[in-house]
Amino acid sequence: MKTHDYVGRDVDLSNGTSMHVRPEALVYAADAVEQLPDLAAQAVGGSDKRAGVLMDVRTQPVAGDAVAAAMRDAGWAVDVVLVPDPAPGKDPVCDEATRDAILPKLAEAILLVPVGGGVMNDLAKLVALESGAEVIVFATAASMNGYASANIAVAVDGVKTVRYGRAVYGVVSSPQVLAEAPWELTASGLGDVLAKSVSSADWRLNHLLLGEAYLPECVELVAEIEPLYFQNPAALPARDPAALAALFDALQLTGVAMTLAGTSAPASGGEHLISHSLDMLASIGRGEHDYHGRQVGVGTAIAAEVYARVLSVESPQPGQPKRAPCPDTWGPLAKKVGRQLADKQGKLADVAEAVTHSDTWDMLREELAPMCRPSRAIRHCLREARAAVSAADIGTTDEQLADVLLHADEIRSRVTCLDLAWLTGVLPEQADDIVHTAVG
Ligand SMILES: [Zn+2]
Repeated sequence: MKTHDYVGRDVDLSNGTSMHVRPEALVYAADAVEQLPDLAAQAVGGSDKRAGVLMDVRTQPVAGDAVAAAMRDAGWAVDVVLVPDPAPGKDPVCDEATRDAILPKLAEAILLVPVGGGVMNDLAKLVALESGAEVIVFATAASMNGYASANIAVAVDGVKTVRYGRAVYGVVSSPQVLAEAPWELTASGLGDVLAKSVSSADWRLNHLLLGEAYLPECVELVAEIEPLYFQNPAALPARDPAALAALFDALQLTGVAMTLAGTSAPASGGEHLISHSLDMLASIGRGEHDYHGRQVGVGTAIAAEVYARVLSVESPQPGQPKRAPCPDTWGPLAKKVGRQLADKQGKLADVAEAVTHSDTWDMLREELAPMCRPSRAIRHCLREARAAVSAADIGTTDEQLADVLLHADEIRSRVTCLDLAWLTGVLPEQADDIVHTAVG
């Protein structure tokens, strides 16, 4: 696996610095459960062997019970925490109330082993922030790129916010467990890695026009293994072992890329803003939300179409940067959204100015065009992989997606292709057509 070039290594970066990369270990093997106790001993050293194993009712039979038993057999005192569902049939969430409920049972543990996906992993990292415990995650799905990252997604009043903890010591999983995971979860992981073509271009845009630090190696990390799932997406729903392994590896490498960059920029651009906007709107009762990566996949197809339209503009006639968020779209969230937009005003002014210079504009088009994929290629990959492709697949409508496309730029202070679309006159006129072409 390509990941082994990075995990637990000191990596020299093109900016002249070097960095030790966490996680320290990645285990992807049929006997992953059996290997876990040795890794656990390495993580904590010494003879203190108190561990907390976190799971929910879904991951308990899949691997949770087996992980707890393997740890006990190896002499660990294990507290099992079965994180309750907030309501019948609803998956647990990572928020402070849930953390406070489970913390007393885990306060003594020097090692936490979450068994599950993003929520279990984030809960363990959130507990570890308080207790200082090491964390080794047993991943039960190739569902998202956060296993290897230090970011913690914490829900505050239903809206995901990011906190920064420490990256986990180890990421462990087995091919059998990943192959048996509910398909929507694997499809979600695919959506999250496909985001890369848009997010990389957005990152480069920030570098070229605003001088943000940029590391080409972070963009190239996944290039070698990407063809294993992108060129042959039907292999994923067929549970082809090489395709699943490549996807899992790509998810970890994306996490590593964020660690090396010190920002989520390599993996999160305008396509993620579309997904986050859907989550935020759902939190105020405006529509449903789906799995993160399923929304990101749809957002990637839309953002790819945005890039195609933007980069085909010969000479932009920029309008005024947006000053205020849309009150109709955001309702009670407008104030919060407005703060992010206010933080972006200086950057928007700089971009608006830069795109009027034909040399700069031509340079930008030349640099970004090779990084972008056509939206039809993204859509083809998602469809062949039986992932979410249309508005209906993620519980929304083309009309709502067009509205989100028009206002997702307002929720973050980072500049993306969505801002560029406004500043080159592509938006608002082409919003409906972009959504129709990309996912209609
Ligand atoms: Zn993501």
